[in-house]
Amino acid sequence: MAERLTGHTELVGLIAYPIRHSSSPAMHNEAFAYLGLDYAYLAFEVDNSTLEDAVKGIRALKLVGSNVSMPNKTVVGKYLDKLSPAAELVGAVNTIVNKNGVLEGHCTDGIGYMQSLKDYDIDVIGKKMTIVGAGGAGTAIEIQAALDGVAEMSIFNIRDKFWDNAQETVRKINEKTNCKAKLFDLADKDALRAEIESSYLLANSTGVGMKPLEGQTWLPDASYLRPDLIVTDTVYAPAETEFLRIAKQVGCKNMNGFGMMLFQGAAAFKLWTGQDMPIEHMKEVLGIKYGE
Ligand code: NAD
Repeated sequence: MAERLTGHTELVGLIAYPIRHSSSPAMHNEAFAYLGLDYAYLAFEVDNSTLEDAVKGIRALKLVGSNVSMPNKTVVGKYLDKLSPAAELVGAVNTIVNKNGVLEGHCTDGIGYMQSLKDYDIDVIGKKMTIVGAGGAGTAIEIQAALDGVAEMSIFNIRDKFWDNAQETVRKINEKTNCKAKLFDLADKDALRAEIESSYLLANSTGVGMKPLEGQTWLPDASYLRPDLIVTDTVYAPAETEFLRIAKQVGCKNMNGFGMMLFQGAAAFKLWTGQDMPIEHMKEVLGIKYGE
């Protein structure tokens, strides 16, 4: 008889829509099984119209917690009891932890990005970074990097619907952290060159480079990079974007978005179970290679 799931098994959810394509259930269930933890992780199709009931369900059914993805990340906070400093500042929750009926909201995307840098021996603390993009992924990275001690941050964005959010993020960083943040229009190529030149790390947090913008990059050309610049991308499909292809050509140490994806999961896993995700095992099983 199968013994994997019993009457004692604890459940972790994932509430989003669409969500059937997600790799998170495979990742967390593999980690539970590998460590012999009596937990299961299941995805539930929940959008904004059923979100409040789903959160009530987490309480009523005593789930250990849940991941939260689109379109619920920026909405779910109002149904929770507490928010972590990062979730509060980012204005988004990707992880719920149920502490005896008290639901805490966390944002582990930025933690995942910062941890993936560490795992790859990149130390941006006390230094300057330039980051392009101020959407969901960008904001999480920017806030966490500032909270963790990045000294200076130059954020570039196009003048689209995310511009106001970028301004708000810069305001929050300068007001609530010791990091000095500035916002630039991505159309200002002189500023882009100057800010990259004085940075230790350059990050892409836009979807430029993945479908439908695969093969494209906002980077004008390779002359903006130098071999000792660290270059990272949040995109992991494809594993090598046009941006990373150019960085590799220049000889930059570089990293794609697999690391952020893995470590945001590891941070949530730790919050639910108190245990470290078996990172090296996960990299092997999931075939993850994120840096060169
Ligand atoms: P989003 O829609 O919230 O933000 C999109 C950002 O891209 C905005 O800053 C927008 O201004 C910018 N942008 C859009 N079109 C642009 C263009 N043509 N030129 C320049 N900038 C442009 O998206 P998101 O959720 O922040 O996701 C962004 C990327 O990060 C996606 O590729 C996503 O797959 C990836 N991501 C990765 C992880 C991970 O764990 N590795 C997590 C979240 C998101």
